[in-house]
Amino acid sequence: MKSLVFLEHYHGELERGGLGVLGKASSLGEAAGVVLGEGAVAVAASAGAFGATKVYACDAPELATPLPQARVDALATLVEESSPDAVLFGASVLSADVASGLAARLDAGLNWDLTDLAERDGELVGTRPALGDTVIVDVGWKDSLKLGMIRSGALDPVESGGTAEVETFESSFSDFSTLATLVEQTQEESSGPSIEDADIIVAGGRGLGSPEGFTMLEELAAALGGAVGATRAVVDAGWYPYSTQVGQTGKTVSPRLYIACGISGAIQHKVGMQGSGTIVAINKDPNAPIFDFCDIGVVGDLHQVVPKLTELVRARG
Ligand code: FAD
Repeated sequence: MKSLVFLEHYHGELERGGLGVLGKASSLGEAAGVVLGEGAVAVAASAGAFGATKVYACDAPELATPLPQARVDALATLVEESSPDAVLFGASVLSADVASGLAARLDAGLNWDLTDLAERDGELVGTRPALGDTVIVDVGWKDSLKLGMIRSGALDPVESGGTAEVETFESSFSDFSTLATLVEQTQEESSGPSIEDADIIVAGGRGLGSPEGFTMLEELAAALGGAVGATRAVVDAGWYPYSTQVGQTGKTVSPRLYIACGISGAIQHKVGMQGSGTIVAINKDPNAPIFDFCDIGVVGDLHQVVPKLTELVRARG
């Protein structure tokens, strides 16, 4: 299978989501990356270390801002020139817009929210959790060009140690593709690793009792060198930002250690963190569902357990 993987870049580095998809695509056949926008040519070669044999780069001025429509034009041009079997994306706000725009432009089918890809009898097959992630289904494509978007955090980048040939290309842009302008771009202030990158996640739910409860988790996360995650219940309540939401409608994470504090363990949360190495649950209700799938369960009031744990971690240096 010959695939083209859309790679996003930021501050001179390729994003993990696309690199994870690239690793999977290269295990299924010939995988080329495509990097678009300012600095694309400089960053393109680094995809070679993650499975790309070739990387197409285009840094036309129309692609300078991270807006989708011009990227649809560039990808459509490249699909015409390089005839891949599949165009694959790691899920992100930009990728979702670009992938759906490309599907409309090329009249090709897009399967989204995939958690894996495989080749069976010469056909590409996607894995897709459905019905609130309670069942896993195999999905295929009717068209010869297959578009797929992979759930964030589902595939980890794999270092192949290879190198890639970088080929620049030019694209024409439709008038309507450059009409939108970017008025402002701001970056959320954050310290420490993001939940996608963290080895350790300390996550909080409604059991924290109030937004202030997160300060306690931030202290534990800082002591462990980890990041703070949250359930949808607290994100919806405005206690913590959406970027930290773990679960079906948030992010899928797989840290080495996941400490769930005051989290009941609803299926929609479980699907986002069940791939974690060791799951520790702190909950005052011994019948909380999370105790059915955690590795270590602590029945107790998190307001007593968490500060004590932080103290012990700090004492160990
Ligand atoms: P609760 O279920 O209210 O659990 C709070 C827990 O805290 C309880 O178990 C309680 O015993 C414990 N507790 C209370 N006080 C203390 C204390 N002092 N010390 C220790 N423990 C205490 N949820 C997600 O998380 N992520 C998603 O992406 C997501 N997507 C969804 C998508 C859909 C379509 C739907 C329908 C729901 C989704 N949900 C998601 C919501 C999910 O169903 C649950 O409602 C949510 O996960 C519950 O969050 P919680 O565990 O914080 O709250």
